[in-house]
Amino acid sequence: MSNRLKARTKLFEKFSNQLHLLKNEGIIDIELKYDETYICQICLKQFEKSDLISDKSKNFLTEEDSPPAKLNGSRIALTCYVCNSKAGHTIDHHLINRLKEIDDSKYYNGSNQRIRVEFEDTHVNSEITSQGDGILKVLHRIENNNPNTLEKFIYGLKNKSLGEILTFHPKKKKIENLKVDKALLKTNYIISFAKFGYLFLLDDYYNEIRKEITEPDSDTSGHLMVNNQFTSEQTGTYYICNYNVKSILNVFSLKTDYSETIIGALLPFPNMAPNELRRNLTSQGRKLPGEKVGVTIDTRTYDPKADLFSDIDEINKVLNWIKRTTTPLHRK
Ligand SMILES: [Zn+2]
Repeated sequence: MSNRLKARTKLFEKFSNQLHLLKNEGIIDIELKYDETYICQICLKQFEKSDLISDKSKNFLTEEDSPPAKLNGSRIALTCYVCNSKAGHTIDHHLINRLKEIDDSKYYNGSNQRIRVEFEDTHVNSEITSQGDGILKVLHRIENNNPNTLEKFIYGLKNKSLGEILTFHPKKKKIENLKVDKALLKTNYIISFAKFGYLFLLDDYYNEIRKEITEPDSDTSGHLMVNNQFTSEQTGTYYICNYNVKSILNVFSLKTDYSETIIGALLPFPNMAPNELRRNLTSQGRKLPGEKVGVTIDTRTYDPKADLFSDIDEINKVLNWIKRTTTPLHRK
């Protein structure tokens, strides 16, 4: 068995065991098709162990990197091939491009980007490498340009007829804000799945989120996500215990070759609409003259080592806490 297949099998067994345990304990009421079943957390289709073998003729299970692999995420769950490739092409790409665009605007030492250099009424396609100390090295490749235009440009540079100041523009990347948001929503959802498995995410309530992920052009219902509020030491999953704001907070890191962005994202529990969560959270922020609106988030770290995949007592503790409205989770 290849190492990758071994890794997939390990993930399959972890989630499948939990799924069957929840079914046997009457916590979920879903007909499971196989002795060992995995439900793709995005499309909710059921898969069996033999679906771990790649076979595009019938869809199969793949490892899911969350955050996306290009942003230093790791393989924390399985999703079906169809969901995995669709999301990669349609939404994750926009998030990766957005972070690359921010990096490009900072010209990090050693970084490289494609630009258009405007001259006269035309342009050449070039690449610039930042050497630090404000020096940018520009490369004009023959294969990226019309040879006549390039020759004219080089001639102009040599004879100084172009002047000393040239205008250049970064090459436009495909980025849609809606899809950047969707990619963050997906990351938040997958990280929650990796932490809690099928404990509550199979609830119909989350169909809305699944739809937002699988239909990239659909509207988004205003999920709560913040940037620049957390440090990389704070990455992890937290329970938010504020009254009326009970939810999960995932703090995750998006790393490029040059920068790190820390996102905090809330995932509501069933029966609280995302915009209701937002309203409740902001209404708890006290506004004093001259002060910003701020909310002190009351997080209780439930035993982070608690086994929510095979220990039914731990599973019930979390489920009971979710059902109650005000009682906080016990402190460890
Ligand atoms: Zn799927």
